[in-house]
Amino acid sequence: MSKLDTPSRIDKYDTAGPRYTSYPAVPFWENSPLPHEKWVSTVERNISESNSQDISVYIHLPFCESLCTFCGCHKRITKNHTVEKPYVDALIKEWRNYKTILKGSTEIKELHLGGGTPTFFSADELFRLMSALFNKQEVNPNEVELSFEAHPNNTSEEHLTKLYHFGFRRLSLGVQDYNPEVQKAIHRIQPFEQVKKVHDFARIVGYTSISHDLIFGLPKQQMKDIISTVERTLELKPERISLYSYAHVPWIKGNGQRGFDESDLPIGNEKRALYEVSKQMLLEADYLEVGMDHFALKTDDLAIAFQKKNLHRNFMGYTTQKTKMMIGLGMSAISDSWYGFAQNEKHVEDYLFRVNNGDIPIFRGHILSELDTEIRKHILALMCHFETVFSDKSPYTEVHILIKKRLSEMVSDGLVVIEGNTVKITKGGIPFVRNCCMAFDQNLNADNLPKKMFSRTI
Ligand code: SF4
Repeated sequence: MSKLDTPSRIDKYDTAGPRYTSYPAVPFWENSPLPHEKWVSTVERNISESNSQDISVYIHLPFCESLCTFCGCHKRITKNHTVEKPYVDALIKEWRNYKTILKGSTEIKELHLGGGTPTFFSADELFRLMSALFNKQEVNPNEVELSFEAHPNNTSEEHLTKLYHFGFRRLSLGVQDYNPEVQKAIHRIQPFEQVKKVHDFARIVGYTSISHDLIFGLPKQQMKDIISTVERTLELKPERISLYSYAHVPWIKGNGQRGFDESDLPIGNEKRALYEVSKQMLLEADYLEVGMDHFALKTDDLAIAFQKKNLHRNFMGYTTQKTKMMIGLGMSAISDSWYGFAQNEKHVEDYLFRVNNGDIPIFRGHILSELDTEIRKHILALMCHFETVFSDKSPYTEVHILIKKRLSEMVSDGLVVIEGNTVKITKGGIPFVRNCCMAFDQNLNADNLPKKMFSRTI
């Protein structure tokens, strides 16, 4: 724990709050259902106003063979692999629908396969999907950044080889924690040797950026477990390491997050200490803390972008690609046209039905107001660079005054510094970045602080 993070300070700021993958946060989106034409008009506005043709694509592949009890994702548990083909067919259809809206005026610069478990799908199905999307058998990895989530238990040599040949150079491995007791509690058994096997083979094939995703605050996880997990991770020296806080939201995720006792969860100071010790180990091993929850070797693009203040964040996480539009394909995927958000149907059957009827299968979303767009910019800047600047020309100077007032306690606690129009999160304030963003959030006020809506900020 750093000197500044005294237990009382953690108690004070450990509250429920959004993770700000979008602003406004999803529970404050206003359009449910979101009419198709409204959403399309924001996509068209982006195309006509943007001076860049570059877009990002996120593809949600929802199937998993078994349920991990820590999981907060939209997934469908099944061992039946006949679901693969109709789902890939629907993704291709959905993309073709979008292409008519995008009118061929855009280029995919970045694409991520997430889930669920992308490697639930056979290498052949994934290859078929990619070649249909790009209308090619391979892409130039210097022109398009392709990445996928690899489940250590079912990523085969064929997956790694075929996707590499298509142009993939990045993958992320879901590690969580190596202690067998923790793995048993989260119902995800994957020994270090298994992760190492996939990691080493990816290196042999030629992947240049491997990320390991760790989680702190898991049931039964103790300090010795996270220390040993970080040590083992450092043995493999991935370019990037995510150190996510376990988000306990059983009221949203239902029985999936009830496979253990609440008393098994480290909380408050105990949980924060798991993060602080891990962070120290990573910094000592020459990783740079990049934005919230992320670390990268100083030579990695993400670290370089962070230092050059070029980092961007979207629904896929931190990225070096600054595209202003992201199209999400697949069940529950979220799209972002910069002027609006839209989420696809959350059930596989509803998604398939609507796509097969020729629809864009969105079911809810939000059209951003001018004020939303301004607040979104500030929150993005805080999340990526730990600082933001109010413009003198902004029509929202009264809102800025209110935000500064809301930040006064964080200023007194040494977590935030305000100099003129600049709001800066101090080194000691980094663990509290979500709390700082909450002061900017126009949907939150003292009477409306969320309780059972969001995970804890610390
Ligand atoms: S953590 Fe990943 S593999 Fe496990 S149930 Fe969730 S989406 Fe599936």
